[in-house]
Amino acid sequence: MHKCLLTIFLSLFSLHAFAVTVLIDPGHGGDDHGAKGSYTVGSGKKKSKIDIKEKDLTLAIAKKVKELLTPHCHAYLTRSLDNNLSLEKRAEVAETIKADLFVSIHVNSSRSHSAHGFETYYLDNHDDAAVRKVEEVENKISGGAGEEAIIRQILTDLVISRTVTSSKALASSIHGELGKVLPKKFKLTDRGLRPGLFYVLALSKRPAVLLEAGFLSNEKELAKMNSEKFQDEYARAVAEGIKKFIKTRYKSPVSLF
Ligand SMILES: [Zn+2]
Repeated sequence: MHKCLLTIFLSLFSLHAFAVTVLIDPGHGGDDHGAKGSYTVGSGKKKSKIDIKEKDLTLAIAKKVKELLTPHCHAYLTRSLDNNLSLEKRAEVAETIKADLFVSIHVNSSRSHSAHGFETYYLDNHDDAAVRKVEEVENKISGGAGEEAIIRQILTDLVISRTVTSSKALASSIHGELGKVLPKKFKLTDRGLRPGLFYVLALSKRPAVLLEAGFLSNEKELAKMNSEKFQDEYARAVAEGIKKFIKTRYKSPVSLF
């Protein structure tokens, strides 16, 4: 092949990282606000309270991640607007676009206002500890299916068992990048990489992770998370982690065809 044509061919090939499709899922939306929090700015008479909903923070971060990934792979969002989207529908999007990877973005909340830090969950239906997470706010599911039936189904799902290794590797790659930035630049505590049994990840049937950026219930942390600087750096770290995972996982284009 002519040298010039070969260069064009190779650059086109690397541009989309062998056509890996990544679906970024901003948690909640529409009537489902997720967690809510507020922080105070100013002092004296100029003091005012800023109210924040999880659904808005997750969308802002997810859009940035998508933008950063677009030159490197096929990146999509489950929602780009403030609209309702059930957990089942999010999984359906993953199916429709044949996503290779699923990354759900959330913001944490706790009754304790002092709780702080960032966490990364990977889908794992083996660990008993993972089951406890099912009770949390992220697993609100619509429709009539009984919760227990759904849990039983997820725990015995062979597809999930097969994707655990990839989910953990993807989570580890993203968490590693977040760990390079958040503690140093924003003084956020690393709460670790954890197995989790989230419906939205289980339903998506592919390597999947769920990020809890920080605590919305912690005023100081919320103020940081609501800044453009934090969202930019956070999104950059997530995109970097995804890119590194894709590079390692799909280093040989042959493996994809
Ligand atoms: Zn959430």
